[in-house]
Amino acid sequence: MSEKMHKRTYIDGVWVEGGSGRLLECENPATGEVIATVTQSSVEDVEAAIAAAKKSFYQTRDWRDMDSQTRGDILLHLADILERDRDELARLDTLENGKPLREAEGDVDDGIHCFRYYAGLIKVPYGGVYDVNAGFGTMHSYEVREPVGVCAQITPWNYPFLMAVWKLAPALAAGNSVVFKPSSNAVLSTIKLFEDFEEAGIPAGAANLVIGPGSTVGVRMAASSDVDMVTFTGSTATGQSIMRAAAGNVKKVGLELGGKSPNVIFADADLEGAVEWAMIGIFFNQGEVCSAGSRIIVEESIHDAFVARLAERARAMTVGNPLDNPDMGPLVSRQQMERVLAYVEKGLVEGAKLVCGGHRMTEGDLAHGYFVEPTIFDACTSDMTIVREEIFGPVVTVQTFRTEAEALELANDTPYGLAGAVFTSDVTRALRVIKEIRAGITWVNCYNPTFNEAPWGGYKMSGIGRELGVHGLEEYQEVKQVNINLTPGVVGWYEH
Ligand code: NAD
Repeated sequence: MSEKMHKRTYIDGVWVEGGSGRLLECENPATGEVIATVTQSSVEDVEAAIAAAKKSFYQTRDWRDMDSQTRGDILLHLADILERDRDELARLDTLENGKPLREAEGDVDDGIHCFRYYAGLIKVPYGGVYDVNAGFGTMHSYEVREPVGVCAQITPWNYPFLMAVWKLAPALAAGNSVVFKPSSNAVLSTIKLFEDFEEAGIPAGAANLVIGPGSTVGVRMAASSDVDMVTFTGSTATGQSIMRAAAGNVKKVGLELGGKSPNVIFADADLEGAVEWAMIGIFFNQGEVCSAGSRIIVEESIHDAFVARLAERARAMTVGNPLDNPDMGPLVSRQQMERVLAYVEKGLVEGAKLVCGGHRMTEGDLAHGYFVEPTIFDACTSDMTIVREEIFGPVVTVQTFRTEAEALELANDTPYGLAGAVFTSDVTRALRVIKEIRAGITWVNCYNPTFNEAPWGGYKMSGIGRELGVHGLEEYQEVKQVNINLTPGVVGWYEH
């Protein structure tokens, strides 16, 4: 796929020019260059895509009614095609998002595994079977899982390929028909993914792609009464407006939202290990990670040693063109860079102590890109904006505690509840603290590892529902109970 081509909207198995008359310029954030232009979908395109998905699900029914063995086999074939295209997909994410190439390759590998996982899971029968007596006589009762119907899916830009796969793989495996919209900041790997859908033999109308702004295209997807379910990954504010839009026809809603996750480090932790994981926790993917360990909460007695070592490691990080595999690439856009730098300013004004970083990097080859130094703020307090709000960049705050109770109070002092970690060599303390952290994804003595098999999602304002694992498939399924009367005739009214 040549990056300079005009790309198109995919409706009912046909690639069409987006009808909005507006072009989206895809920018490489490492250089500021436009690497592709894409025609944006109109609201009419959205309606057509929804109509195609509706026809696919309720009339044609070829994907929905396909036996799970065959549907799973198509997804396995897709995974093989994606494996063939792995380098191209990874390169597209790096060029558009700015993440180091090896991280993009890891995302694509995870996504391929995700399709294989759900291709297998859909073939596994599960659900309860009960023999009950409900007062009417003996009943045989069982559960049936069915696809929800037409699913609208909307994703952010920080893991363009992987966030698409986390939604598309379970929804398609379950037999739904989908209309998908990526973030305008990163569309190219999704377009390639849909080209591969076509090659794999996913029938027309079962998977449709629209491209364009949330304010027009996304809003229409969330509000349409022909959509049975909307799933969204992005900021909490957008999630709230999607939830309101979904109320019109009480469509099912799945939300994966923002975070401000605590990384709690006790004095008995392995210091060197805790520093390395804390680095991964905040600087992986330039800190543009919903689950980033953006609030370090460290025991007072090791605070000085910990911060000194963390700063030493942060200053030594390489930042550069992500195709060259530095430790960090640029932020995704000028707008995101300016947003992050504005938070740095706010941190300084509100009295946090800047230990390292805090500036845009413009030397040499970085001149036209959106590079920001790895940044550490110390002496932070819970009322500071940089501690309360999601920055979504390479900026971490440090707070200190003396007691376990104080650590937990700081950790949970947030409206978010996506993730959290604890570092300690005391296993009972680790389990006690994890039990008390109000978050959906937690780690002990590590930060960030995630598996397709394990459920992903947030407590509190970080979301509703779960992706990945068995839960991720169940999100895209309705459950029906079927009750069969085994007692001949009418037993009578309730006997109890
Ligand atoms: P965003 O909310 O600005 O946009 C996300 C998507 O929603 C984009 O495709 C956008 O076009 C669309 N959109 C915007 N307004 C809309 C509206 N009113 N109706 C429908 N769609 C609309 O988020 P972003 O800046 O792209 O991504 C960063 C955010 O995503 C962060 O808050 C991050 O924490 C979150 N995120 C969460 C997870 C998770 O798993 N919980 C994963 C990745 C990112």
